[in-house]
Amino acid sequence: MRAAMTSSPVPHGSLWWEEPGLAYPTLEGELDVEVLVVGGGITGLTLAYTLAEHGALVGLLESGALAGAASGRNAGFIVASPSEPYQEMIALWGRAGARAVLETGRRTHERTRQLVASLSIACDYRASGSFRLATGDEEAADIRASIPAMKADGFPMDEVPISDAVPAHAA
Ligand SMILES: Cc1cc2nc3c(=O)[nH]c(=O)nc-3n(C[C@H](O)[C@H](O)[C@H](O)COP(=O)(O)OP(=O)(O)OC[C@H]3O[C@@H](n4cnc5c(N)ncnc54)[C@H](O)[C@@H]3O)c2cc1C
Repeated sequence: MRAAMTSSPVPHGSLWWEEPGLAYPTLEGELDVEVLVVGGGITGLTLAYTLAEHGALVGLLESGALAGAASGRNAGFIVASPSEPYQEMIALWGRAGARAVLETGRRTHERTRQLVASLSIACDYRASGSFRLATGDEEAADIRASIPAMKADGFPMDEVPISDAVPAHAA
């Protein structure tokens, strides 16, 4: 990204962050850019960076700290799909739409891997798959019904018995 503003470190006040974030001066006057992105969370930053990579002159406005909202305070895993079972997604968006949503999740991980490598980001990124735990028989049946369609569409999912996945409860 072509950026002209200087930054200084500020503490985040978040338990998750060992390192201070960067504070930027308040924008004064006018900003002459091709694209102006509002919000410096993971969405805005990735969009701005990607557009800049493609040669656009990009500005980014953030009213607080970069990644100071949800992007800096989450559980730290990048979910690859919405929480709905695949069959439900198909009902909502059609087969092609549901497949596209999962493909977007897959590409998100690809992009993350690529940015982590190209920018040498020390974030302990690991691609370890997704694990979905059904909380009851009904939910298990819904998820199970999605397995064939997911496999057919290139997103393999296997069912494992609860005893293989979660340690037995202590009495
Ligand atoms: C407690 C918690 C746990 C989560 N856990 C996970 C998880 O494990 N895995 C997962 O994938 N997702 C998780 N999420 C969701 C995930 O963090 C968010 O979906 C993601 O960070 C959203 O990113 P964003 O850039 O769209 O929004 P944000 O990170 O919220 O960024 C938006 C930014 O826009 C700025 N802004 C807003 N309005 C303006 C304005 N008018 N002018 C200038 N700036 C403005 C805000 O200050 C903010 O910095 C979690 C969320 C929370 C809250």
